[in-house]
Amino acid sequence: MSAAGDRPDLRSLSLSHLGRFLAGLGEKPYRARQIHRWLHQKGAASLDEMTDLPVALRRLLAERARLDTLEMAGERRSADGTIKWKWRTRDGRFLESVYMPEEGRKTLCLSSQVGCAIGCTFCLTGTMGLLRNLTPGEIVDQVARANRRLCELGERPAPRPLTNLVFMGMGEPLHNYDAVVAALDILLSEDGPNFSHRRVTVSTSGLVPQMRRLGEETEVKLAVSLNATTDAQRDALMPVNRRWPLGELLRACRSFPMKRGRRITFEYVLLAGVNDSDADAARLARLIRGIPAKVNLIPYNVNPGLGFQAPARERVEAFRDALVAGNVTAVVRKNRGRDISAACGQLAVELGGPGDPRRGATAAGPG
Ligand code: SAH
Ligand code: SF4
Repeated sequence: MSAAGDRPDLRSLSLSHLGRFLAGLGEKPYRARQIHRWLHQKGAASLDEMTDLPVALRRLLAERARLDTLEMAGERRSADGTIKWKWRTRDGRFLESVYMPEEGRKTLCLSSQVGCAIGCTFCLTGTMGLLRNLTPGEIVDQVARANRRLCELGERPAPRPLTNLVFMGMGEPLHNYDAVVAALDILLSEDGPNFSHRRVTVSTSGLVPQMRRLGEETEVKLAVSLNATTDAQRDALMPVNRRWPLGELLRACRSFPMKRGRRITFEYVLLAGVNDSDADAARLARLIRGIPAKVNLIPYNVNPGLGFQAPARERVEAFRDALVAGNVTAVVRKNRGRDISAACGQLAVELGGPGDPRRGATAAGPG
């Protein structure tokens, strides 16, 4: 039998790729749709679950392909309904997804990488560095596993209680561009979980060329983590700004192909004494003037050791009021799941603990 790495992971293949792969095995075309539905609509964890596939075909697939499934390595439930899952990959890496139920929507926050290379100075994931990209299969399986677990917990409607997806977990999605776009293809497929592009948001720290591509190649919504209003400030918080400074980033936002009635979400983490003054609010309103946009203000979730503080509540409200006075739509993001470290920028598998992905980093063989 060939090494696992040479065989395609069935979960990572789009419907058309799956069709070509099966044709190569001499199988009938309709099998592709059948398997795709098992994997991405019903969330099958193994070939054995696909009971309407002939046993001989399941055996052939087990030989010629592989099926990577995330294993639940931890689940923490918050008093506010938020659930954080830790998943283990086939090669023993760990990643996290966060479920956030709200009135009328049930959102899953997805990870796109194990760690992150962008290195924002306030972000816990950033302190891990990039361990590796997730595969398309590992990205979409977060959705399948979460849906299954939510059904077990009584959420409805089965098999897909989730209504919305946001790429705001670990990693910079546009730094793993091809895998994220391949995952979107599956997630939006009618023969998959069939999410509407209106209910899927990709958040980026501002990788300008990939933002352009995303706008050309997909219809999903865009969120941009702005977090600062001058280049000096943004250089210090987000090293990516040295490569694509504010001027270029905002130009890319202005030219982002927007569907009618759509807006770009600008995320702005409020850091006490750093970027939370009235002057910042006024600059922010000026910077985004003319862009159909809304601003999501995120009071900092303190990560001890990184040296930043959250502003007082009054400061947060004053900042929002200053934006609103400048004709900007602005909301303060509710802090969810703080009690289980599931809030924005708190995703990193407990550093130094048994789950610390870096512990196995040198011992593990190539994936
Ligand atoms: N890498 C992507 C998506 C994941 S980060 C990006 O940066 O956009 C999701 C959001 O969490 C970003 O807007 C980021 O600025 C914010 N964030 C990171 N650390 C945070 C923290 N400790 N408190 C509040 N928000 C944080
Ligand atoms: Fe990466 Fe986003 Fe964290 Fe920056 S804020 S380090 S881009 S995950």
